[in-house]
Formats: sequence, structure tokens, C-alpha cells
Amino acid sequence: MISHEAVSKDVPLAPMTTYKVGGPADWYAEPKDLEELRAILAEVPVDLPVTAIGRGSNLVVSDDGVRGLVIRLGVGFAAIDATRPEVVAGGGTPLPVLARTATAAGRGGLEFYVGIPGSVGGAVRMNAGGHGSSTREVLDHALVLDVRTRSLDRRTPDELELSYRHSNLTDDDLVVQATFATTSVDPEEGEQLLREITRWRKEHQPGGTLNAGSVFKNPESDAAGAIIDRLGLKGHAIGPVSVSTLHANFMVATRDATATDIARFVADIRDRVESATGVRLEPEIRFLGDFDGAI
Ligand SMILES: Cc1cc2nc3c(=O)[nH]c(=O)nc-3n(C[C@H](O)[C@H](O)[C@H](O)COP(=O)(O)OP(=O)(O)OC[C@H]3O[C@@H](n4cnc5c(N)ncnc54)[C@H](O)[C@@H]3O)c2cc1C
Repeated sequence: MISHEAVSKDVPLAPMTTYKVGGPADWYAEPKDLEELRAILAEVPVDLPVTAIGRGSNLVVSDDGVRGLVIRLGVGFAAIDATRPEVVAGGGTPLPVLARTATAAGRGGLEFYVGIPGSVGGAVRMNAGGHGSSTREVLDHALVLDVRTRSLDRRTPDELELSYRHSNLTDDDLVVQATFATTSVDPEEGEQLLREITRWRKEHQPGGTLNAGSVFKNPESDAAGAIIDRLGLKGHAIGPVSVSTLHANFMVATRDATATDIARFVADIRDRVESATGVRLEPEIRFLGDFDGAI
């Protein structure tokens, strides 16, 4: 029991993810600001798991849902200040909005975020990147709230140990704000770059489908998508889940897919790749909740 008026019970998480699958959170809150977030956390029993979600663009939520409290940063965590070279954005800010706002204000370097449908907090946690850049390259520091002690900590990319799709953040860490070091850019040139990135994405990724971006991390000196493609698996399907015909590291689902269908499919592709090449691919996407050995 969490007695705070901003906390709800049994809230479906599927609509909050790009795969649109999975069950409810036992407890769910969308705190409007840091004060409310801290007040909610003060009511959380020490043994209750706390999980942050952002835009749900890198997630598969279990069909059984997620135990404990799930927190999605609310409206007060989506503010952007792009008036100075150090661009500050709340942890809940959608990355494409950050890219467009910074560009319009003449701040450069964040354009690559325009094609990544996550949040600032998710980007720091995952060291999201693309088009030759990543969060590590542009982040000055993040403000991280410890969900147990409720203390705020300022962490640089080195302190976060940001590397390829990795940080040292745990489920007890909530990224509430990030400050980015930007360059000066002519807004029109920046807009042009945004258009090019958006066009590239449309041509190379299965837009308008249910997916969570690249499923596997690239192994050393190869691309997971290229390996899957070489095995002739583009278009391969098991029931409602298939390998995208456009990008072999995207696994797309139909509306009737379950989280278990997706987990089994990802495990199947991983096992096929391993038996054909000896390479065991590691998922980049996060599986939240219990999958009963499906992955
Ligand atoms: C079409 C598509 C294209 C994509 N392209 C790319 C790409 O080019 N490059 C790339 O890197 N990724 C890409 N992704 C994956 C995804 O968008 C990124 O990983 C993104 O950073 C995830 O952010 P999110 O807010 O959606 O996080 P979620 O998916 O909600 O969560 C991901 C992880 O971050 C944690 N988390 C979320 N918010 C916070 C927070 N505030 N504090 C602490 N932890 C938090 C969650 O607990 C979870 O472990 C793509 C996804 C899609 C659907």
C-alpha cells in the first residue's frame, strides 16, 4: 500500500510502450515535479521495487505486469532551457522535442535525437545514440535521484560509465534532469540536418509498426542486423512477431501479439544466430517483469 493521492493501483502499462504489450503496474505514479516525486518516494516501503519508465520505446513489459511502483516522470519534467550553450532538459522530455527545440534556438549537436522516440532519462540510462553520436558525446551531466534516500546527485558521463548502450544506473536511480553541452548552429542548417535524419529513418526503419528499435546490441566488429540478414531471416515470422524486412535488427509485432510472443521470438533469433555463428547476441531492449524463462 502506498498512501499518496498521486499513486494509482493496477495501471495498464501497454499503452505507455511502443510495443503496446504487457500487463499492469501494481502501483503507478506520474509525479508532476520533484517535490511530488520525493513525497511519493517517502511513502514507498523499503522492500518495494521501484521502476522508472520513460517513453517505453526500449521496453517489453511482461504480460503479468510489473510488481511494485512504476514511475513515469510527469509534465514538470519536460521543460527545456535552450537559451544558453548548456541546454537543460527535464528527464521526461521527449528526445525529438529536445532536438527540434535546441535546433530552433541555434543550439547544435543534439540533432541525432530527432529520430529516437525515447525520453531524456531513458537516453541517459541507455546511452542512446545514432548517426555518429551518442548521449556520452553531448551530455555534460545528469541529475540523478536515489529513490531510496531521495538525495540528488550530479553525475558526468564518466561517472555514469556511459559506453555503447550502457550506463551504471540501477533501478534505484532516476534521471530527473540532464544538461547538454551544445555548439552554435545556424537554425536553417540544423533544420536541414533534422530533415535528413528523419528521411534516413523513414527509408531504413519500419515506421508505423509496433517495435522497440534495435533488439540486439551490435557485437564487436559486426552489426546484429547484418548477421540476422546474412542468415536469411528478414521477414521470418513466428505468429504475430517477425523480423522487419527493412531492418533485420527490428522485430515487429502485430496488435494481437503478447509480451511472451515477443520474448520467445527474440530468444529464437538469438539461438538461431548462436547456433549458426557461435555469436550470442545480447538484447538491447529491456524486459520488465517476469517472463518465466521465455527469454
Ligand atoms: C523506432 C525506434 C527507433 C529507435 N532508434 C534508436 C536509436 O537510433 N538509438 C538508440 O540508442 N535507441 C533507439 N531506440 C530505442 C529507445 O528509443 C532508446 O533506448 C531510448 O533512449 C529509450 O528511452 P525511453 O524513455 O523510451 O526509455 P524506456 O524504454 O521507457 O526505458 C528504457 C530503460 O531506461 C530506464 N529509464 C527510463 N526513464 C528513466 C529515467 N528517467 N531515469 C532512469 N532510468 C530510466 C528504464 O527503467 C529502462 O531500463 C529506438 C526505438 C524505437 C521504437
